[in-house]
Amino acid sequence: MNTIERTFVMIKPDAVQRGLIGEIIQRFERAGLKIIAMKMVLATKQQVEDFYPKDKEWFETVGTKTTKAYQEAGLDVKKTFGTTDLEKIGRIIKGWLIDFITSGPVVAMVIEGNHAITKVRNIVGYTDPLSASPGTIRGDLTSDSIALGNIMARAAVNLIHASSNPKDAEHEIKVWFKESELLKYKRCDEDIVLGNFLKK
Ligand code: ADP
Repeated sequence: MNTIERTFVMIKPDAVQRGLIGEIIQRFERAGLKIIAMKMVLATKQQVEDFYPKDKEWFETVGTKTTKAYQEAGLDVKKTFGTTDLEKIGRIIKGWLIDFITSGPVVAMVIEGNHAITKVRNIVGYTDPLSASPGTIRGDLTSDSIALGNIMARAAVNLIHASSNPKDAEHEIKVWFKESELLKYKRCDEDIVLGNFLKK
């Protein structure tokens, strides 16, 4: 089994505008993860539409997280969305998300490392900054919440996107980067980070 993975990360417009690019990248670099591609882009609506999943399951997952945040905040989902149908709620949120991601430049990158997909998600933290643990990017660096976002009919402004699983990572990397833009190099601390020095 090969535990070295690649994952896609996007620093969202709120983080770029708050000058948090360096702080966010530093958290990945110091965890021993390697940035193998990076660019700043102003995304089109179509690019973001293609980037986020189109399957029923994803819409339902987003709808489930929303319903949970609403229940916890004592709010009525039906009042905001006009429905309790999880898929329909997910579709409305995707529209908000497209408006958010295209509102300003983002930084797209590919990160490689040991269990990179899970490791990066752990550093990023939970979707709703209100429930994201301290120590994570979303827990430490923002105080927005899903409930406030929904009251204002906008996406949760949560600084960053990171792939959820290997299938999504493969798709997301392809939306933003050509194979030739993924670069190979060795970090000087790689053997120490991965414990390889013990075999030498
Ligand atoms: P994650 O970014 O943690 O993988 P999702 O894939 O579920 O989360 O959702 C994608 C993005 O959509 C989130 O990062 C957030 O910006 C926005 N979002 C998700 N759910 C909601 C919601 N209920 N209300 C507002 N925005 C949401």
